[in-house]
Amino acid sequence: RKEVRKLSTGAQGLDNLIGGGLETQSITEFFGEFGSGKTQIMLQLAVNATMPEEQGGLNSDVLIIDTENTFRPERVIQMAKAKNLDPDETLKRIHVARAYNAHHQILLAEKASDIAKEFPIKLLIVDSLTSHFRSEYVGRGSLAERQQLLNKHMHDLLKFGTIFNAVIAVTNQVSANPAVFFGDPMTPIGGNIVGHTATFRLYLRKAKAGKRIARLIDSPYLPEGEAVITLTEDGIID
Ligand code: ATP
Ligand code: MG
Repeated sequence: RKEVRKLSTGAQGLDNLIGGGLETQSITEFFGEFGSGKTQIMLQLAVNATMPEEQGGLNSDVLIIDTENTFRPERVIQMAKAKNLDPDETLKRIHVARAYNAHHQILLAEKASDIAKEFPIKLLIVDSLTSHFRSEYVGRGSLAERQQLLNKHMHDLLKFGTIFNAVIAVTNQVSANPAVFFGDPMTPIGGNIVGHTATFRLYLRKAKAGKRIARLIDSPYLPEGEAVITLTEDGIID
């Protein structure tokens, strides 16, 4: 087993919450409603991953499986400049694969290892993990098949993380669970399948003026807790 490495989110409070950063050989899931900052965090992680280890990066290339067509090079350029990186060099290290449907998404994850043989990929992002599955497998009759495919997909991602000592970061939407009467009714899509395979789960909630609250849920060895982050022009900060 290779030594676990950590990738900084760029926000100290959030890094501390998860034990110093996102770990390699694990899946970290960010879930939350629209506009909660999931994609912003993914883009920030992509930029950070290209940075040297002394600066919280992995000195690596990045593969993004983009299922919602929300990758924005302009946003990467803004974030790269804020870190004093060459924006063009940064963009060159971020490889984006657009997934057209759930089947294609699964295929791209299977092929990720081919790409990693050519480029030093230490961060694999899936944004969003569940959107295609959610829209293509609708209704009770297709739930079992959806969960089985998601399970296979998650294990492919985890395998990639293990073989290449890479960080796997995924996003997930929430839906209102009508069975929850007390507390927050928002639950992540994919239920137990996603929950059991993701090592770290973070729930993002909106707060005032660009602020977001990240809550760590079900960690194997870290205490539950929260961190506040701010979404700014320059990227994610405390
Ligand atoms: P979805 O579920 O729809 O994919 P998401 O969780 O991915 O939503 P993001 O797209 O990451 O949400 O977040 C959008 C929010 O990020 C905006 O509402 C805004 O608050 C913030 N944001 C985006 N770009 C900037 C910027 N350049 N400067 C400051 N804040 C920004
Ligand atoms: Mg998004």
